[in-house]
Amino acid sequence: MSDKVYVLDASAIIGGFSSKKFQNYITASVIVEIKDFKSKLFLESTIEDGSINIMEPEPLDIKNVTDVIRKSGDVLRLSDEDKSLVALAFKLKRENKDPMVVTDDYSMQNVLKIVGIPFRSVLTEGIKEIYGWIKICKGCKKKYPPEYPFDECEICGTRIIKRRIKKSY
Ligand SMILES: [Zn+2]
Repeated sequence: MSDKVYVLDASAIIGGFSSKKFQNYITASVIVEIKDFKSKLFLESTIEDGSINIMEPEPLDIKNVTDVIRKSGDVLRLSDEDKSLVALAFKLKRENKDPMVVTDDYSMQNVLKIVGIPFRSVLTEGIKEIYGWIKICKGCKKKYPPEYPFDECEICGTRIIKRRIKKSY
């Protein structure tokens, strides 16, 4: 069985994605694309704690990506940065890893479909992790919907508090 790894593009970093369970990889060109302060901080700390690794593809991998795209007959304009990320996924595959690219970029996802590399978006994960609110009576524990307008329980008159619940999708 091969190790699962994530390849992150700039949109994944900006979305604050890094897997805690599996190793994450980026190319150096991703760092250049990150301009805003918050994302830069996030990237620096994840590189520092070793959860994000910087790796470059080999020329062979770039060539393979270019060949597959050309063969598909699609006229795709892929930036050098995006191409190097897809090539990095090719390289990780050669090294017996099981790469999944994380990107919210639609044209990138399109290319990944063509070259047969699995991908997911940051937003999909966000939906899975979403939290909701309910209101609950501190006394009798009766549950109320979040939009329930009163502060006191209709059954026992005790104060109602808000509680976070995990929604499952
Ligand atoms: Zn109550």
